[in-house]
Amino acid sequence: MLSLTDIEDSPTEVSKMESVCDALAADFSRDNCYRSAHLSMTASENYPSKFVRAMGGAMQGAFYEFAPPYSTAEGEWHFPDSGAQAALVQKLAQLGCQMFQAQTFDWRPNGGAAAEQAVLLGTCSRGDAFVHFGHQDGGHSSLEELARKIGIGIFHIPVQEDSLLIDVQRLAELLAAQPEIKLVILDQSFKLRWQPLAEIREIMPPTVTLAYDASHDGGLILGGVLPQPLAAGADIVLGNTHKTIPGPQKGYVAFFNARHPVLKPVSDWICPYMQSNSHAELLVPFYMALVEISLFGRPYAQQIVKNAKALALCMHAEGLRVVGESFGYTETHQVLVSIGSPGEALHAAAHLLALAGIRCNNIEIPGSGGRHGLRFGVQALTRRGIQEIDMAVIARFIARVLVRKEPPELVRNEVALFLRSFPLHPLAFSLDSQYEEPHAIRLREEVAA
Ligand SMILES: *Cc1c(COP(=O)(O)O)cnc(C)c1O
Repeated sequence: MLSLTDIEDSPTEVSKMESVCDALAADFSRDNCYRSAHLSMTASENYPSKFVRAMGGAMQGAFYEFAPPYSTAEGEWHFPDSGAQAALVQKLAQLGCQMFQAQTFDWRPNGGAAAEQAVLLGTCSRGDAFVHFGHQDGGHSSLEELARKIGIGIFHIPVQEDSLLIDVQRLAELLAAQPEIKLVILDQSFKLRWQPLAEIREIMPPTVTLAYDASHDGGLILGGVLPQPLAAGADIVLGNTHKTIPGPQKGYVAFFNARHPVLKPVSDWICPYMQSNSHAELLVPFYMALVEISLFGRPYAQQIVKNAKALALCMHAEGLRVVGESFGYTETHQVLVSIGSPGEALHAAAHLLALAGIRCNNIEIPGSGGRHGLRFGVQALTRRGIQEIDMAVIARFIARVLVRKEPPELVRNEVALFLRSFPLHPLAFSLDSQYEEPHAIRLREEVAA
């Protein structure tokens, strides 16, 4: 551990810098080893490519950038600029509009939670109400406390227990009975299925805004394996850019109609009310992450869904309680496994699997009446070149720990050995793979030849 006195004791500025860099290098190296040797199966993380990461250093830094996605006369707080940053904003917004079939694309939210909160604050005032997924149905955590604090009423979307799909008829009844509802937001974080958005549009009163939070499935939507929320009837699509979209940690809000009455309030809540700076140094990595998806998104998203289905089937065959047998387990990047009490699920995620080199989260299982379990995502593994034929091996690792109760440390070494065939560079479906073929794919081609 490097202390301030070590630095002060170094005789010259150069050697002071060297001690700092040595200490940082040790952290980088530990991070690299950890990532290489672990199965990254949290559903909310990904590996951005080297190309996208390098773009984070392309600009000399960030200027302030307040310009909203609606046209406005220049007011207070003008920041002079060469025009380069505004040109980058325009490139990103144009590509975002094109990819989400939107008329506006606001790149400014510093994450999915900021995007969601701005949508809530821009659509509802004190005394109004909104509808979203309850926690037990996978609803995200960033809206309810805020709503309670400022006096916005909260309702939960009715969900059918077996299919995990929205009960559209009961949602229509709720909207008819509660005219104070101004927003319906589909904010699922545990998401195995596409929800009937087009049917929901049909029953929406004209004064209620319909928003779709694509934080989890953004990459699957842009890759064309799930429908486009705006084309299916949503007024707003929002989300972040680091789950199935393998970009930096940012967010976006896009409107179907540039004349929508809540465009201005939602945009103003993003910035300047909730945020002042929007991490403009991430403009280029954000843009390149979307370029990457526009080039490789379809095969990437198709492989993710194949991998998730294969993982679910293999885990079921290994004796794990995989959720959703009646609908083929999953239509997304996620697979859920029911474990038991909250304590047992926490122990499985935080101790047993973590010690075995497998990362995932413990969650409440939707539609289970309070059972807890594990949420796995396959999007990051897919970027390492892992395919459905490899899922039997991965399911076996998990079952050895959770079903056969083998010591996790024994499995850990085998996980690390298995992952040597899937190095972190170059990643599959990435700009990096254009210069160097991913190791796993090269190996498979050699075996096939
Ligand atoms: C992850 C998630 C968020 C939060 O995104 P951040 O970028 O972490 O702020 C918001 N909504 C949903 C549905 C999510 O799954």
